[in-house]
Amino acid sequence: MPDFPATGSSRLHRATLVALLRLAALLGVSLLVPSAACTRPRRPPAPAVVFVSIDTLRPDHLGCYGYPRPTSPEIDLFREEAVLFEQAVAHAPSTLSSHASMFTSLLPPHHGASVLKHSAVVPTVPLLAEVLGDAGFATASFNGGGQLHPAWRLDRGFDVYESFAASDGSHLGEDTFRERLSAARGWIQSVRDKPFFLFLHTYEVHHPYTPEPERLALMETGYDGRLPGRISIRILEKINAGIKPLRPGDLDHIVAAYDAEISSADAAFAELLALLRELGRYDSSLIVLTSDHGEAFGERGRVGWHGDSLYDEQLRIPLVVRLPGGRLAGKTVESQVRGVDLAPTILSVLGLPVPEGFSGITIDFAGEGAREPRWSLAEVDGSPNELAVRTPRWKWYRGQLYDLAADPGERTDVAPRHPEVERDLAGRLADLMRSREPAGETPIEVDEDLHERLKALGYVQ
Ligand SMILES: [Zn+2]
Repeated sequence: MPDFPATGSSRLHRATLVALLRLAALLGVSLLVPSAACTRPRRPPAPAVVFVSIDTLRPDHLGCYGYPRPTSPEIDLFREEAVLFEQAVAHAPSTLSSHASMFTSLLPPHHGASVLKHSAVVPTVPLLAEVLGDAGFATASFNGGGQLHPAWRLDRGFDVYESFAASDGSHLGEDTFRERLSAARGWIQSVRDKPFFLFLHTYEVHHPYTPEPERLALMETGYDGRLPGRISIRILEKINAGIKPLRPGDLDHIVAAYDAEISSADAAFAELLALLRELGRYDSSLIVLTSDHGEAFGERGRVGWHGDSLYDEQLRIPLVVRLPGGRLAGKTVESQVRGVDLAPTILSVLGLPVPEGFSGITIDFAGEGAREPRWSLAEVDGSPNELAVRTPRWKWYRGQLYDLAADPGERTDVAPRHPEVERDLAGRLADLMRSREPAGETPIEVDEDLHERLKALGYVQ
């Protein structure tokens, strides 16, 4: 088992003690009133934040979001103890930029992290892990690397930051959730009863789709086409370039391969929850299950791809949050929440102060989600002209206005019918851009290992 840096009690900050008291109140545990027998006050369980990002996971491919295939029995069970957000949106359809928004609470033009520009996150802004580390939390991330490689500097604030490397890969350079959990297991056990923040991330669902045959068989019946069970990036590139046109049944088969990988990640998610229960850390933990972006499956021609547009198939993400003590279990929130809202919300749930520079707002779990206004801006990595602004009802993108309530597929431009809405959204987009100075670039070197990992994920040639 690897050695992990200890988190001594000297790091226990006053803010953490306040958080412990608030959490104890939340759980109905008395800290201050001794029992009649004058026994020592019961110690509340230390707070923990478990943040799980299953890369490229579309919400509408999970049972709890209404999907008919059996992709997510475990997440569906978890959802019964959690709050589910119907309209959670990312700020970018790519891994680095979207996660950077979640952890800096800044929009892409303001956090500076970009794969296309070889730029790391701006060094002067606080990251969620730093804030939690300063408050006495042990912090660790076990992630799929690539766009989360330490070179992009989202590792700031983590005691342990372990990325899957290209050289680790024995199967198409792909990691699995089970492998990330296995890497994390020793660390989780080592923190014992201290407060901790764990960020677990996997590219298991990301292309290439390499499902176990048994899981693929559960997702489809009777496919007799020419595509193999494992869908490589090369196959997807040929399809998207028109070199290998889809035949009847092919698209469904590709989606089944993607779905089968979700089912594998779902099973590993259950193992994570079982470990937390075994260690007595489940009930008091704040558990966030989400993703960084979606995936296109032929909505506009491209199949098994993301990162190139801001339509909802690439921007919507699942968000299922279990509050400590299972508060508000089973609740559904229909209003829009954004990636930038996650970090301030996590800190608020823990009773910790939110840094002034965070641009997101605290999600109101008991109410209808985030308070108005809830404008969300999204940007294609490195493309300042590819911007969209979204509300729960409308999206303005590429000079077109979509009524998401009437036209969730974003097919019909209704700008001529609603010029006042278009003007308003264009103004909001300009306001969001101006709300902070652009981050500029923080250049990084992409070494061979990182290049190979990005290549395995289809980001570079
Ligand atoms: Zn991603």
